[in-house]
Amino acid sequence: MSVAKHIVVVGAGIVGVSAAIWLTRAGAKVTLIDKNAPGQGTSFGNAGVLASCSVVPVTAPGLVLKGPKLLLDPGFPLFMRWSYLPKLAPWLLRYLSHANDNDTRRISKGLTPIVADSVEQHKALSEGGGASRYMVPSDYSFAYADRAAFEADAYTWQLRRVAGFEPDILEGEAVHEYEPAFGPAVGLLAVMRDHGYITDPGGYVAALAETFAEMGGRVVTAEVTDFDLVGGTVQAVLTDQGRFDCDHVVLSAGIWSKPLAAKLGLNVPLESERGYHIVFKEPVSAPKSPTMVAAGKFVATPMEAGLRCAGIVEFGGLDAGPSRAPLKLLRKTVEQTFPDLTYADTEEWLGHRPAPTDSLPLIGEIGQSGVYTAFGHHHIGLTGGPKTGRLVAGLITGDRPNIDLAAYNPNRF
Ligand SMILES: Cc1cc2nc3c(=O)[nH]c(=O)nc-3n(C[C@H](O)[C@H](O)[C@H](O)COP(=O)(O)OP(=O)(O)OC[C@H]3O[C@@H](n4cnc5c(N)ncnc54)[C@H](O)[C@@H]3O)c2cc1C
Repeated sequence: MSVAKHIVVVGAGIVGVSAAIWLTRAGAKVTLIDKNAPGQGTSFGNAGVLASCSVVPVTAPGLVLKGPKLLLDPGFPLFMRWSYLPKLAPWLLRYLSHANDNDTRRISKGLTPIVADSVEQHKALSEGGGASRYMVPSDYSFAYADRAAFEADAYTWQLRRVAGFEPDILEGEAVHEYEPAFGPAVGLLAVMRDHGYITDPGGYVAALAETFAEMGGRVVTAEVTDFDLVGGTVQAVLTDQGRFDCDHVVLSAGIWSKPLAAKLGLNVPLESERGYHIVFKEPVSAPKSPTMVAAGKFVATPMEAGLRCAGIVEFGGLDAGPSRAPLKLLRKTVEQTFPDLTYADTEEWLGHRPAPTDSLPLIGEIGQSGVYTAFGHHHIGLTGGPKTGRLVAGLITGDRPNIDLAAYNPNRF
């Protein structure tokens, strides 16, 4: 950038802090605004996995036929707060319209550049600062009851192969030699090498925000309420703490981006895919590296605070508090998977994955407003946040990335 520009980044989750750091590195003057402390939104409670191989959306072929049955099965980790269904219905219909082979392959191709080099992107983002201590290189395993259950997931594994990810398969005794914490419910492990995880996702984002401040960036606690536009171009971000004049804005407020984008005339079909975690504190007989328990649709990750088991999908909007049934099922599946697990105490959390109907993040400029979107990362925001932040910073500073960004165009809906 020839002249230092002032850029306001709205939202200090993993995506916002990544954008703020890369913009500052490029020489911009950056203000990072969040209504709370950095890293307290969805980025706080995720499973912490840098899931480079997560290139397959939830809307795989067959979901339309299977979905209703799964929703009614109390043993399956998909839940609905039925009173929310009328509000959800338009989004849900569009979401399910992508549950076909063509769209799934297209979405998978779009997700790959955002997630595939996650470990390198996190290293590049955090290097030289206090956040790097939270990052651990590791395997990422997928646990199945047996070969038949693994083979039932063949479609997903085929897409991962297309993206360049091939697992090592362990069966029988080899599973328990690799990870003694598993009980007999796990008969096959698909182990992905060269992945990684974050030992405290909230602490990590907070440390990145500290690095940003040490670089000269300004962190402000304020709630963004609107934008001031003149001739269609942003002049300022308006907050409950006053006005922040700027040349450009990055809108990275996760699920809360929808009403802010609407202020700019962009109606994004974005819903919360609610997810939960339980932290088992002071665990004994817990797994040593992150494991996706396929039947329970949760990941068990060894973290600083204990064993965090995070996952499940529930539809029910942003306002309702946590439901008991998903947490009960999560506890039950954890017990079945790790039968010898003991712990001192537990802590529960509900969070909101920002899910656009087509499962692809929005990265690009809203019209010619000078406001750039960086949200909509549903299940893969921790993994893909650093890359997204770097891409959006490049778009603003003129350092155009050499990947095709058409799939992420925020004006596509
Ligand atoms: C149970 C669960 C497990 C998950 N596991 C993983 C995983 O293992 N790996 C992975 O890659 N992803 C995972 N995810 C997904 C990931 O957590 C999200 O995609 C990611 O955190 C989204 O980050 P973000 O920066 O877009 O949003 P957020 O972290 O939600 O940040 C948005 C910020 O915007 C702020 N904000 C909102 N409105 C305003 C306003 N008006 N003014 C000012 N500030 C505002 C909020 O306070 C918040 O800090 C998981 C999610 C869940 C729920």
